[in-house]
Amino acid sequence: MGKASRDKRDIYYRKAKEEGWRARSAFKLLQIDEEFNIFEGVKRVVDLCAAPGSWSQVLSRQLYLPAKSSAESKEGDLPLIVAIDLQPMAPIEGVIQVQGDITNARTAEVVIRHFDGCKADLVVCDGAPDVTGLHDMDEFVQSQLILAGLTIVTHVLKEGGKFIAKIFRGKDTSLLYCQLKLFFPTVTFAKPKSSRNSSIEAFAVCENYTPPEGFNPGDLHRLLEKVGSPSGGSDLDCSSGWLEGPNKVYIPFLACGDLTGYDSDRSYPLPKEADGSSYQSLDPIQPPIAPPYKRALELKKASAQSFNS
Ligand code: SAM
Repeated sequence: MGKASRDKRDIYYRKAKEEGWRARSAFKLLQIDEEFNIFEGVKRVVDLCAAPGSWSQVLSRQLYLPAKSSAESKEGDLPLIVAIDLQPMAPIEGVIQVQGDITNARTAEVVIRHFDGCKADLVVCDGAPDVTGLHDMDEFVQSQLILAGLTIVTHVLKEGGKFIAKIFRGKDTSLLYCQLKLFFPTVTFAKPKSSRNSSIEAFAVCENYTPPEGFNPGDLHRLLEKVGSPSGGSDLDCSSGWLEGPNKVYIPFLACGDLTGYDSDRSYPLPKEADGSSYQSLDPIQPPIAPPYKRALELKKASAQSFNS
């Protein structure tokens, strides 16, 4: 698909470039904030699976830059933002970058060191594996990332803090909801307007981190096992038929962002430039600096050249 055609079909893709965001995902975090006010009082944040960096840009613009320009802020008072991804990311003002795998226990240690004994107020995780199109498989791999994110949360998030995590809606959504509820009294699944209806993606907004009494973060895997019964995962589904009456769980699911605003599933005509000429499609703000598919593109190009010569 050409850039102009995508500009027309995907309003958030176009607006992201116009407003200087590296990816359209920026709008998802902004719309979640509109509904849940997630940035209020936040001084320390962890951005998991951050590349190419549009969520880190949002954090920088919403938290770091205003504090930096405020006359009262001293160096030590500035918000701390730590971003982690497998991929390298171009720098963003006020964001400390860590290149690493969030499923690796060492990554949590690196993050904790940056916080120097203090805890984070907010952890966000937009992690996604390369989707295969096989929903069950994609949902499973996605839940591994959420579990990794939650493990980091139990090490770095302060009590009362918030955790926002991308989820894939599927048959195990209610199990995931119940697991998150062990740590957060309030869990809502949100679908920002900028997230396409055709995508199974949604976001778990988990508020007021309250680990179970006596919880040891190192025991996360064992704790999750304890919740289950020997007969397997399906027994854990608290919205399925085996629970009745008040024990049955209804998951709060909220659309967020201005509901009269842009619809991410619609096409919008391209506007005219001020001088009446056709819309000039913009380049992406920050293409990935070392994308995993770079080698594949080089090979494809080389093979096309040898075929033509
Ligand atoms: N929030 C980002 C933004 O706004 O620019 C977009 C994140 S993108 C949808 C998903 C990211 O998850 C990719 O950059 C990928 O490298 C990262 N990722 C996937 N698995 C990971 C892992 N195990 N550890 C760290 N990052 C991972």
